[in-house]
Amino acid sequence: MIETIKKYCNSLTEYSRYKTREVCIGEVPLGGSNPIRIQSMTITDTMDTKATVEQTVRMVDAGCEYVRITAPSINEAKNLENIKNELRKRGYTVPLIADIHFTPNAAEVAARIVEKVRVNPGNYADKKKFESIDYSDESYEIELERIRKKFTPLVKICKEYGTAMRIGTNHGSLSDRVMSRYGDTPLGMVESAMEFVRICEELNYHEIVLSMKSSNPQVMVRAYRLLIQKMEAEGMNYPLHLGVTEAGGGEDGRIKSAVGIGTLLEDGIGDTIRVSLTEDPEFEVPVAISLVNRYKNRDDHDSIKPLDEIPIDPFIYKRRTSVAVSGIGGSNLPAVVADFSLRKIASYKDLKEIGYIYDEITDKWKMEDAAADIIYLGENTLPFACPSGLKIIYDYDYWQALRENDEGFPLLAKEQYLNGDKLSSKLNFLLLDLNSLTEDLIKKIKSDDKIVLIAETKNKHGMAEQRRFFFELIQMDIKNPVIIKRDYENISPDEFRIYSSIDFGALLIDGFGDGVWVGNNHFSDNNTTNNKYVKSFINTKESTQKIINRTLFGILQAARVRVSKTEYIACPSCGRTLFDLQETTEMIRKRTEHLKGLKIAVMGCIVNGPGEMADADYGYVGSGVDKITLYKEKEIVKRNVPASRAVNELIELIKADGKWLEEKKI
Ligand code: SF4
Repeated sequence: MIETIKKYCNSLTEYSRYKTREVCIGEVPLGGSNPIRIQSMTITDTMDTKATVEQTVRMVDAGCEYVRITAPSINEAKNLENIKNELRKRGYTVPLIADIHFTPNAAEVAARIVEKVRVNPGNYADKKKFESIDYSDESYEIELERIRKKFTPLVKICKEYGTAMRIGTNHGSLSDRVMSRYGDTPLGMVESAMEFVRICEELNYHEIVLSMKSSNPQVMVRAYRLLIQKMEAEGMNYPLHLGVTEAGGGEDGRIKSAVGIGTLLEDGIGDTIRVSLTEDPEFEVPVAISLVNRYKNRDDHDSIKPLDEIPIDPFIYKRRTSVAVSGIGGSNLPAVVADFSLRKIASYKDLKEIGYIYDEITDKWKMEDAAADIIYLGENTLPFACPSGLKIIYDYDYWQALRENDEGFPLLAKEQYLNGDKLSSKLNFLLLDLNSLTEDLIKKIKSDDKIVLIAETKNKHGMAEQRRFFFELIQMDIKNPVIIKRDYENISPDEFRIYSSIDFGALLIDGFGDGVWVGNNHFSDNNTTNNKYVKSFINTKESTQKIINRTLFGILQAARVRVSKTEYIACPSCGRTLFDLQETTEMIRKRTEHLKGLKIAVMGCIVNGPGEMADADYGYVGSGVDKITLYKEKEIVKRNVPASRAVNELIELIKADGKWLEEKKI
């Protein structure tokens, strides 16, 4: 099993960058020992030289090190020359990347102009018809030969002009050929790229970068891990470009990107990243910088007990088996803990921040979908009756004093647990870290079916230490539920959003965690960056508890382990988009955000949109000027609806399927 780990990263316990070969992209080399590079993509019309240049300038000023520009046809590919010349005239030497889908002829033009071209192996030589075809080995080989013929001219041009290339697989746009053979799987994504990489290698061309993007972080993480394993098996080490596609915008888009990208960065994987949001690209850049900066001084973390054997399969999602204790763990959804230990609850209104709304007229509590399950009060008490279903945790000594009321459950430190004889007969919480797992403790936990473990860490490489903790539990056959707890000091709410998404997200993606808990932190007021493109979604009047609660539910949703709201899969838009994608997504969100669990895709163009919208339930896809085509899963249900009516028609469609709910008035 240890061999498996070595193949997808250097170490699961010691932070270390996975070393790839260096690739030259203009004056900014990538991979090898170069820093993790930041990149993004323009959303202007590529034929609009002025707008594209100005957006590129803003992106570079925000910290972008490579700029990608779409080239849907030869005309746009040719215009890259004007864009490049104007940028150079203004003193901007940023390497440009042409983004190609379906059009080899545009790629062949662009490769002579810009520093890098991006091709999508799912559509470079194939048209998507969503057909399932049975291939024999022989007919598959004939298909590969067809691809070789179409792709070879571009490789030769890149070699001649010193142009780099990204072979960028998207989960949503695998070719019918790959889908037929490997399915809609991480393996299919990897093979889709490897077919093209092998052709490059045959032609002795190695200026390659690879990516495996998906809108689902679960899929994306596993595809990159598998890619590294496959590359190693074939003696390759090409640099990796990380990204979560169609992540949407706002807080959810940032959380989803941080969960996917951050999970890989934690293991030292990734040479360049793009955070793709449904916002102007300059606003993506500070998010990417914040992600990358987190690893700048990671090497000197406290040591973590090395690992001899990894007791999970890192290529398949499987939730760690735990035995339920009072509704926590087992098959229950991961619980969310709200920490009010340092803040006294004065009135029932305070619980609104964590999703509980008291109705004075009916004298009843109502719960939002994102309502916390457990509240930690430390040595505080609730000045009113607790909403039913909400569990209370008190510090052990305090709980003992309250015990007669039989309300709430105790939180114990290790010594209290080992020596204490007065415990709750139903549920107890035990605070632990990796180093506290001693033999006597393990023995006692194993025979205790009323204890939930709270895993905490003070290690700078905390996710890895907590993962190691989970590995240890599995190896010791300990099945008690575990709530992951993290504390953050002196960070802004925006940094908190990114850091917590990584720390919790990376563990949840590997099936770890029966709950999540952020300590009662005090956020610093200021962002530690002066970047004027930082977009904050934090309302300064919001309480810490509200921000934390919303973020934790967002992380659970992004990791696909607990759904509490509608999911939006929105492309970042690009020069192909013929409507205001940001405004439209916002409009759709406002009307549908109460449809918990529904996945709605908003895609800028009919060329790539339908393929890229992955597993969405409904798709709203631009199909011409002022024209929208509506999809139900992968099928067109209404073609070329005028944009002015399209949102209403989408809602009618959802209603006709019986999936519409009237908004809850809370
Ligand atoms: S789906 Fe969106 S980002 Fe992708 S090519 Fe179409 S418009 Fe551009």
